[in-house]
Amino acid sequence: MNEKFNELKKRLGVVSDLQRAGAILDWDQQTYMPPKGAAGRAEQAATLSRLAHEHFTAPAIGALLDDLADEAAKLDYDSDEASLVRVTRREYAKAVRVPPALVEEISRTAALALDAWTQARTDANFALFQPHLEKTVALQIRLAECLGYTERIYDALLDQYETQMTTAQVAAIFDAYKQELVPLVQAIARRADAVDDAVLHREYAEQKQWDFGIEVIKQIGFDFASGRQDKSAHPFTTGFGLNDVRITTRVDKHFLPSMLFGTIHETGHALYDLGYRAELERTPLAGGATLGAHESQSRLWENLVGRSRGFWKFWFPRLREYFPAQLADQDAESFYRAVNKVQPSFIRVEADEVTYGLHIMLRFEIENELVERKLQVADVPAAWNAKMQAYLGVTPPNDKLGCLQDIHWSSGSIGYFATYLLGSMFSRQLFNRAVRDLPAIPAQIENGEYAELLGWLRRNVHTHGAKFTLDELARRATGEPLQAHAYVAYLKQKYGDLYGL
Ligand code: ZN
Repeated sequence: MNEKFNELKKRLGVVSDLQRAGAILDWDQQTYMPPKGAAGRAEQAATLSRLAHEHFTAPAIGALLDDLADEAAKLDYDSDEASLVRVTRREYAKAVRVPPALVEEISRTAALALDAWTQARTDANFALFQPHLEKTVALQIRLAECLGYTERIYDALLDQYETQMTTAQVAAIFDAYKQELVPLVQAIARRADAVDDAVLHREYAEQKQWDFGIEVIKQIGFDFASGRQDKSAHPFTTGFGLNDVRITTRVDKHFLPSMLFGTIHETGHALYDLGYRAELERTPLAGGATLGAHESQSRLWENLVGRSRGFWKFWFPRLREYFPAQLADQDAESFYRAVNKVQPSFIRVEADEVTYGLHIMLRFEIENELVERKLQVADVPAAWNAKMQAYLGVTPPNDKLGCLQDIHWSSGSIGYFATYLLGSMFSRQLFNRAVRDLPAIPAQIENGEYAELLGWLRRNVHTHGAKFTLDELARRATGEPLQAHAYVAYLKQKYGDLYGL
């Protein structure tokens, strides 16, 4: 086993290097590349994607996986070896179904679409992005047909982000959640004035915001010797190795939460990307499990920690030292209430925890309609606005605040959004279990101490890398399958208290 296993690891290491070099190019494109660099970058990205795909789908890897399958099946399911063979076989079976030319075309299209989307979003002009999105949707449909599916075409795309979860399973979880959520949103709407967030819209100097954010994430545990933060149009995290992770944020002078919670959110992703065991480096197991698992980490730090009363008990006095004039009339409690105001809004990443799920359901439905060809790309802005009105009672005044706000479609990521809500649900399951195991965590958060919580996440989530599906991870970390009820109970309790319901 050893010799073949080592040969497999050697080959997968090359694939990993090519993929990570591609990730660096993408990070550069979104942070520092000058605008005219897009066309050249598209070719470089396409070449690296094609090379990585060719190396990964080489018949030699298939033969090694076949040779190793029987032996790996006898090993402990959770072991590094069994997991590597299992996960790689699954990914290999998918990858060989996709022709290299299609991989290259998707990558090239994405680099050009990203450029068009950036301009379209700035100008709030959907027409600039429309032909790129049409091409992207057509390519994703082709991709799904190559990957194959039994029930819904969307299953094939969803599986790329949330392994072994189907559209029907997600729809069932979302439907159950919606039934609980809509009455809560309505009850809060009747008491909308109970929480005032005007303080968040005062003027906050950009550099001071940036500095405060850095101070917070350092204390949470982000190590700047193994990472850095830059600015981008859309905040994201990308990892280039066990000791090199990049996060980005954006700063809005007139809306403090944009930087603050964006930075904490991406830090949650980064800590996950820095937490797998070194033995998994340069294999498909390096990094997070599914995207839902990833989002559980970002949402846990952003919301369950960052929007908690205990967190602001500690950090508000410090924030007021940065902004004494703006926060003179506030205290920790009023600030805590402000950052948890529930109000229907246009931008998903700035949505409160209660309405956030509705933003996700809207995208999940539109994507399904697009790939099932029930909706034309040209009609996306109208469909988007109609759903916003139906679910949240607001209509975006322009497409920058509507269907152009998210980067995902420009990069060809259709099937991705559902993982955000699944991750939010999982975050509460994890947090509850961590507090059950370590009851001092809430008191520690009030003291600005995060080491025990981070340690629990390291041991129960991060260390496994990408070994498990979301459901497998949930069972191992919490003893229960993935479910919505812990999250629903949390929202009802927290917002019932805030709004006096
Ligand atoms: Zn995220």
